[in-house]
Amino acid sequence: MIAKVIVDIATSELDKIFDYKIGYSGATKGSRVIVPFGKFKTEGFVIDVSSVSDYPEDKLKPIIRVVDEVPALTEENLRLAEFIKNKYHSSMASVLRLFLPSEMRKGKVRSKTATYLSLSDGISVSDMLSSLKKGADKQVAVIRFLQENGKTKQAEVNEAFSPSSVTALKNKGYVIATEEKVIRTPYKDLSASGKRVSLTAEQQNAVNSVKNSNKPTLIKGVTGSGKTEVYLQLIESVISEGKTAIMLVPEISLTPQTFSRLRSRFGDKCAILHSGLSAGEKFDEWWRLRSGEAVIAIGARSAIFAPLENLGIIIIDEEHDQSYESEASPRYVTDEIALYRAKLSNAKLVLGSATPKVESYLKATTGEYNLAEMKERVNGRPLPEIIIADMRDEIKHGNISPFSIALKTELKNTLDKGNQAIIFLNRRGFSQKVICRECGYVAKCLNCDVPLHYHKAEQVLKCHFCSAQYHMLTACPECGSVSINYSGTGTQKVVDERQALFPSAKILRMDNDTTQNKEGHFKILKEFSEKKADILVGTQMVAKGHDFPSVTLVGILDADMSLYFSDYRSGERTFQLVTQVAGRSGRADDSGKVVLQTYSPKNPVLQSSINYDYENFFKRECMVRKASYFPPFSHVLRLMVESEDEDLAISTLKSAFEKTREVYSKYHSSFIYFDKMKSPVKKIKNKYRFQVLARIRDNYEDIENEFYKIANGLISRKVLCYLEVNPSSTS
Ligand code: ADP
Ligand code: ZN
Ligand code: ZN
Repeated sequence: MIAKVIVDIATSELDKIFDYKIGYSGATKGSRVIVPFGKFKTEGFVIDVSSVSDYPEDKLKPIIRVVDEVPALTEENLRLAEFIKNKYHSSMASVLRLFLPSEMRKGKVRSKTATYLSLSDGISVSDMLSSLKKGADKQVAVIRFLQENGKTKQAEVNEAFSPSSVTALKNKGYVIATEEKVIRTPYKDLSASGKRVSLTAEQQNAVNSVKNSNKPTLIKGVTGSGKTEVYLQLIESVISEGKTAIMLVPEISLTPQTFSRLRSRFGDKCAILHSGLSAGEKFDEWWRLRSGEAVIAIGARSAIFAPLENLGIIIIDEEHDQSYESEASPRYVTDEIALYRAKLSNAKLVLGSATPKVESYLKATTGEYNLAEMKERVNGRPLPEIIIADMRDEIKHGNISPFSIALKTELKNTLDKGNQAIIFLNRRGFSQKVICRECGYVAKCLNCDVPLHYHKAEQVLKCHFCSAQYHMLTACPECGSVSINYSGTGTQKVVDERQALFPSAKILRMDNDTTQNKEGHFKILKEFSEKKADILVGTQMVAKGHDFPSVTLVGILDADMSLYFSDYRSGERTFQLVTQVAGRSGRADDSGKVVLQTYSPKNPVLQSSINYDYENFFKRECMVRKASYFPPFSHVLRLMVESEDEDLAISTLKSAFEKTREVYSKYHSSFIYFDKMKSPVKKIKNKYRFQVLARIRDNYEDIENEFYKIANGLISRKVLCYLEVNPSSTS
């Protein structure tokens, strides 16, 4: 028999199927295999098995060996891969890579074993003891220990007693050593109260609504309405039917809370797939799912590729979150894949959010999705009151600090009552630019053409695009002035000012700088939830899904900033952010408050958000987008050209423009906009960036297919070229 193999070679995006003889290798469809390739060996996937080949059989080389005992990919995985390949015009090799944690490829990790010791049962303990020489106290102790504790890791016994006494006992045949597989369990010490709640009427309705519908369900539930409990209930009923479940959460809210809630309900039946795990943990969790030992996969975006069979449900929590869009090739959108996977497996698809994407809610209103709404918080509490602080007035009254009088007052009240507060800043170190006061020079990254950010703790300037670090400026490189302004409101600055106002308050800070190591933000959130701090200051990370019962105040320092991004989705982002951050307040017994600071209190998006009026926001947003042909009433296409060689990038852009112009002429009436230009960020990591930008209102599939083909046709060793459809970031 012949195996059709996709070889896993990173550099060449060889999208070719190679034939190999299966021979005695035992390879089947889905197997990971080692095959000879040119002068080398390489890893590959068997995507099909056939009795025929276009090549004469004696020319074919045999597979060297199969990597795993069970085929790594299931039949369903392969069909899903085919779909992704066609939809996003990517190479099969790059699609298949999505299905395995990268650390597993090329034999980088294996299963781990450890040596265990136990007493031989061929001889009685009393015979062992009486045969030992006088003075062999340690050996006696080892025997007694193993008698009491049973099988124990050799390393532990060695450490507690002595390796030499263990060796002596092994030589006598009294102690037997065995190799056993060790499962590396992430977050082992997460404890949780497995308290079971009975569902509220709204929760029960949502559960029933999902069960009774054969469409995907959008659960639109206000913050604190108990969506997670609904998910858990749905998962429970799916696994009681012997099926499996995938639950996706935004990368950022993969918190100890989410895990412990799942684990307390389902124990070892759930496995975690998450970029923060060690390679070994990923390997073991992945195999627990593949082998059927675990039946619930929880993780960020990539867990949509979890190796589960017999899938019963896919849940996407906080479905509006941007982390569900992949930023590297293949540039997939998670719900598109989830939709197809659910269809393939005849599984339910559930999307949940307090602030659904405009696109998703539109589908719910037109009947493409089933809609389940939860309008009340579980505890019957009102949503927190949002107080607007008009920052123009503050300045008029002489308050130039980043904190309004209202926020200071509320903060004091909150701390006096022994409650906690969260202070939210829109972006990490947003205005921490380094500016020359004399000539206005702004320090920029040499690789990226973006302003550098001042990091006070380390006393360096950093680029947030490529992480390059620079020394502090002592003088302006343009005019020589020593008057350099390092101010601005970064998280660090806010912490400093808060501390000055409330010297005894304990403040935690959470942003990309403080959460770089593996469990960084877990640790901060854990400390905060254990009330080891009074105030948590942070960026987007503090906005997502957390459930801290003692938080009764949320301060939003700069609600306007996201309104002024040029993106057509900036209003949507602002609405989502304000609602989500506000939702962290008053989740338990004490009612909560929110102070929202803004320079444009009359802005309609802010007005809708302070009234928690999603419908109103949605109506207005749809009206505006429909009138100006923005998604979901059109598609934005961005064909990117990137190269370190600027001239090459420009000439490639020209050919891209010529080729796409042919498509433009052919489908002229479908185009609302079509042009070529520099990308907003002209250079990232030393690569010059140009783009063809288009907006189309129909014939989506045909036009996109042509654009994808053009982009793929222009890729070379020195030029990266790709198409983005409705990209979430247009930097
Ligand atoms: P959401 O995800 O909608 O913001 P959560 O699922 O985090 O809300 O629920 C908010 C809080 O209410 C959690 O602490 C949760 O344990 C609690 N909760 C959820 N459902 C119930 C219920 N039926 N009875 C009592 N408490 C509940
Ligand atoms: Zn200057
Ligand atoms: Zn840079």
